[in-house]
Amino acid sequence: MSLTEPLKSANVPDESELQLAENGELRHLLTMRGLSREQITELLDRSQKFVSEPGQPAARSRALKGRTVANLFFEPSTRTRASFDLAAQRLGADVLNLDVNTSSRKKGESILDMIYTLEAMQVDVFVVRDADSGIPGHIARHANNYVSILNAGESDVAHPTQALLDMLTIRQHKGRIEGLTVAIVGDIAHSRVARSASEALVTLGVGELRLISPPALAPMPQTVPAEAKILHNLEDGLRDADVVMALRIQRERIDNLDGIPGIDEYFATYGISHARMKLAARDAIVMHPGPMNRGIEIESKLADSTSSVITRQVSNGVAVRMAVLSTVINTLDAR
Ligand code: ASP
Repeated sequence: MSLTEPLKSANVPDESELQLAENGELRHLLTMRGLSREQITELLDRSQKFVSEPGQPAARSRALKGRTVANLFFEPSTRTRASFDLAAQRLGADVLNLDVNTSSRKKGESILDMIYTLEAMQVDVFVVRDADSGIPGHIARHANNYVSILNAGESDVAHPTQALLDMLTIRQHKGRIEGLTVAIVGDIAHSRVARSASEALVTLGVGELRLISPPALAPMPQTVPAEAKILHNLEDGLRDADVVMALRIQRERIDNLDGIPGIDEYFATYGISHARMKLAARDAIVMHPGPMNRGIEIESKLADSTSSVITRQVSNGVAVRMAVLSTVINTLDAR
């Protein structure tokens, strides 16, 4: 994709209705769009119950005993895939991690035929990551009514479980989302993380949402909530922020790097460092969804400092995915 082509997120149909069952309960998780403050809060409260302290045995339940979860990752993933895998196992599910390099989709099988094949093997939940937009929604629209689809990262469009784990992490450290000043810094244009986090933050009543990037990596206004402030000056964006989230440049989604600063210039202009964090609130937290490029979007020693909550985000990811899996299984059970 060149920067002159429209972003996929600009043309994505609204799938928020599709993810709810007739009784309003969460049946699939496709997007943060359209989820109410109560629904998000309920998911966060449920996630909190699955949080265990570092060094303690991981939280477990049998909520998915007898169920099968298939992880279909058609784009690279370390954290999210491992996190869904562990979450499903800790709930007692059978887990199928499909090897995409040998899957029949490579042989031309349509994604729906693949889903129907796995449905026939009693898979109940499909966790899907794809570089193309619209795939999780397409599957949800055509899958049988006894399965659930969870979006584990969709092009530049959505990453709802990442948004939930980010909200949980902020809530744990700040006690609330309401009224906070949150600065998201980096390649906003191509980031599904920024997009889903922005939607969740606005629904949860964030005080001020600042999206800070070089001009070439700024989001198109229609792809982010109208409440967001789109900024290019990092110093202005960091001032008094309670939460600072650094993002990586999503090179895999950019064909033409013209206008994008090189590594040294990027760090000098947009890198989050100890020195720059002095502009933020005294107790500000630093976040990053990973994978991190130390010395580019974030100073290495800041990533390892006490203001960094990056490993907490990873731990919370498992808890959030346990909460989402158990929620959609409850909805399927209530059919
Ligand atoms: N892991 C996140 C994602 O899948 C962020 C990133 O890749 O930069 O979108």
